[in-house]
Amino acid sequence: MLHPLLSLLAPLSCAGCFRPDIALCSRCLARLHTPLARPSIAVATALWGVPVISGGAYRGARRRVVSAIKDGGVRRLTAALVSQAMIRELAELGQRHPGLVLVPVPPSAKGFFLRGFWPTELIARALSRGAGGFPVLRSLSPGHLVLGDLLAGFRHTPRPRTKRLSRRWAHVGVRGMPGASQVVLVDDVMVSGATLEACARALRRKGHSILAVYVVAHVPEPQRSPVPRAGGQVYSERTTLTRRT
Ligand SMILES: [Zn+2]
Repeated sequence: MLHPLLSLLAPLSCAGCFRPDIALCSRCLARLHTPLARPSIAVATALWGVPVISGGAYRGARRRVVSAIKDGGVRRLTAALVSQAMIRELAELGQRHPGLVLVPVPPSAKGFFLRGFWPTELIARALSRGAGGFPVLRSLSPGHLVLGDLLAGFRHTPRPRTKRLSRRWAHVGVRGMPGASQVVLVDDVMVSGATLEACARALRRKGHSILAVYVVAHVPEPQRSPVPRAGGQVYSERTTLTRRT
């Protein structure tokens, strides 16, 4: 609850529909809690066979609430993005794998510089709280946290997304994880799955296994642009998909 004087200075409105005097109205909250989506990741061979659980499509109220957290820094809205259905699903997974750990996907250097927090960690903590208190480990770090990448994000004509992603996620670092952990990867928005795949590959290389991926939103397939990856295998009729680590 904002102090009344503070709300005069910073008028409050619903993050989903801009209705005044409320951080998130009940209609928008209901829109966030739709049945779970299970988007496929066509190109992510390191995640082949791993269930992907999404809160819903990245549009409307869900998109605006994600933006209020990531761009507006309204952290307290994070719990609203984590639906009871997601929590139930994770609790069931936890019954079969009681030692599971939640690992949030790290933010980009620019994102962390601007926000000072990990939105994905807040999502993982909200999931964990509801599902029985699984450990949340900030064990992943993007490999190229260099000044050049940070500045590149502020250029007027940034590099194409695919180029930036492949550079940023070329060497994901893994630290402070107990051996052979059973990991649930947590991200905010899944676009192509390339970032998640890079994280999954890095974890598998260290001997950990990926049980599932949780995202609060996904960009539905027709809206995604094709993401060819250097050295990667793109799924097609003629490609034999194999599990790679
Ligand atoms: Zn609303």
